[in-house]
Amino acid sequence: MEKYAERLRRLSFSQTFVMSNKVREMKANGLDVISLTLGEPDFDVPRNIKKAAFEAIENNFSHYSPVPGFLDLRQAICDKLKRDNNLEYEPKQICVSNGAKHAIINVLSSIINDGDEVILPAPYWVSYDEMVKMMGGKSVFIETSIETDFKMTAEELEKAITPKTKAILYSSPCNPSGSYYRYEELEQIASVVARYPQITIISDEIYEYINYGGKHTSIAEFPQVYEQTAVINGMSKAFAMTGWRIGYSACPVWLAEGCEKIQGQMTSGANTMAQKASITALQTDYSEYRYMIEAFRKRRDLVYGLMKEIPGFKVNYPEAAFYFFPDISFYLGKTLNGIPIKDADDFAMFLLDFALVGSVGGVSFGNAECIRFSYAASERELTEAMKRIKECLENAVIS
Ligand code: PMP
Ligand code: GLU
Repeated sequence: MEKYAERLRRLSFSQTFVMSNKVREMKANGLDVISLTLGEPDFDVPRNIKKAAFEAIENNFSHYSPVPGFLDLRQAICDKLKRDNNLEYEPKQICVSNGAKHAIINVLSSIINDGDEVILPAPYWVSYDEMVKMMGGKSVFIETSIETDFKMTAEELEKAITPKTKAILYSSPCNPSGSYYRYEELEQIASVVARYPQITIISDEIYEYINYGGKHTSIAEFPQVYEQTAVINGMSKAFAMTGWRIGYSACPVWLAEGCEKIQGQMTSGANTMAQKASITALQTDYSEYRYMIEAFRKRRDLVYGLMKEIPGFKVNYPEAAFYFFPDISFYLGKTLNGIPIKDADDFAMFLLDFALVGSVGGVSFGNAECIRFSYAASERELTEAMKRIKECLENAVIS
C-alpha cells in the first residue's frame, strides 16, 4: 500500500497473533479447534494481586505516574533483582513499561541507528527481528538446531560480531525452544562481549520463574558485562498478568535515561493500578504462586510423552518456558493429502486445517523446520491435541 511509510512496509504482522486470530475465526464459525498458539498462562491472576489493584483504584491511583514508574515499584524491582539474581540496581536504572515487549522497544530505540547490526541467535522470539527492522537496524542470525538444544556457543557469537554490531538480543529461558543458558555458558558469552564495549546485551528474562531444570542465571551477574547489559523482565508470564501490561528494563543509567526519554514521548508511565498491584506480586514469596509452575511442569511431561509418539516429529525436551519446538523436517518437500509442505508454516496450516490444532510455524522464529506449540493449556486439551495430530499424520496421504 503506497500510503504506508517505508517503515511499515518492512514490517510483518506478529505471526503469534495471526495464528491465534485464525483459530478464533474458526471457532466463531463453529469449528472445534484447539489453540496451542499464543504463549500466555491460562491461570487467573492470583487473588492477592487482584486485591492490591482494587485497593489502588479505591485509593485513587488514577493519575499519571512518573514516566519510568512509581518509585515504590522501581524499588520493589531492585529488591527482586537483589533477592533472586544477586544484582545491584538503583531505582534510577529501572524503567517500567507497558509490558516486556515495550521495554525491548525502548532499549532498541535508544541505541539502534540505521544500518546497525543486532545479533539474534535463531530461533528467536517473533518480535525481535521485526523490532530491529522497525528501528532501521539489521538482524544478523546465528543458526542453531535441535541437536545443540537450540543454543549458540560463545565462539559462534564472536564470529558473528562485526564493527557494526550494536547489540545482541536473546531470551533465556527461550521462547520458542524452551532451552535456557547455564551459568558456564553465559560466563563464556560474557567474556566475549566484554571485549566489545560498543555492544549492548539485551537479556530477555521474562520466563525466569518458569524453569524446571535448574537455577536461572542473568548475564548481568557477570561484572565484566554489567555495564553493557539491559535486563528485561515483567509480570506477564510468572504472575499470569499478560493483559495488565507491566514489564521493565534494568540498565546502566545512561540507557535507563534513554528509555525514559523515549517512553515520555511515546506512551508515558504504565497503567497505575497495575503498577501498584505489581508491587504486591513482587513482594509475595513466590512459593505462593508456584502451583502454576508445577502445573506447567506436569503438562510438559504429559506432552513430551505424547509428542514423541507422533510420526515424523523430532522432539526436544524443553527445560523451561512453556513451549515445544519439534523439528518436523521429515515432512518438508512432500505433499500431505495433496497439500505441498515447503516449510514449517505450511505444516502448521496443514495441522490447523486437517487436525484442528493451532500451532505457530517456525519461519517467523527464524527456523523453517520446526513448529511451536504452547502448552499453556489444560491437560485435557493437550491430550486431545496430541491425539488429533498423531491420528491425522498416521492417516495422511504422503507423497
Ligand atoms: N519476550 C518474550 C520472549 C515473550 O515470549 C514475550 C511474550 N509476550 C514477551 C517478551 C512480551 O511480554 P509482555 O507481555 O510483557 O509484553
Ligand atoms: N509472547 C507470547 C507468544 O509468543 C504472546 C504473543 C506475543 O506477544 O507475540 O506467543
